Amino acid sequence: MSMRGVPFHWRRYRERYMLLGTKCEACGGIFFPLRSICPNCRRDGKPGPLAFSGKGTVYSFTVIHVASEGFETFTPYTVGLIQLEEGPKVTSQVVDCDPEAVYIGMPVEACFRKLRDQGKDGIICYGFKFRPVDDPSKNE
Ligand SMILES: [Zn+2]
Repeated sequence: MSMRGVPFHWRRYRERYMLLGTKCEACGGIFFPLRSICPNCRRDGKPGPLAFSGKGTVYSFTVIHVASEGFETFTPYTVGLIQLEEGPKVTSQVVDCDPEAVYIGMPVEACFRKLRDQGKDGIICYGFKFRPVDDPSKNE
């Protein structure tokens, strides 16, 4: 599927709400976020949009205690480097669990949440975050 002719704002919308990345048909490379040029093939690449499953695991993480403006109500919060099932890693907030409960290798899935509180510009941002999914190996 070609992205040609799709309005820019709709592309942004889809990228933000569907966890959209790129798959290059020339080399099979998978990237996040959506790109117009394959970093492997450059001008010979055939990049197209790929909707990720949203499933992944925590690759590494940091607990943020001092928030930047607009994030105050979220502290402390966890920012994780999430390894997606499809391969790419994305940086995202990990929600729905205590920062102490987050561990490397924890299974997570994408969900859509408020990204930050209303700032001076009056804009509330929404986008994807990751939340824990039940880990069968943790059950007795
Ligand atoms: Zn490529």
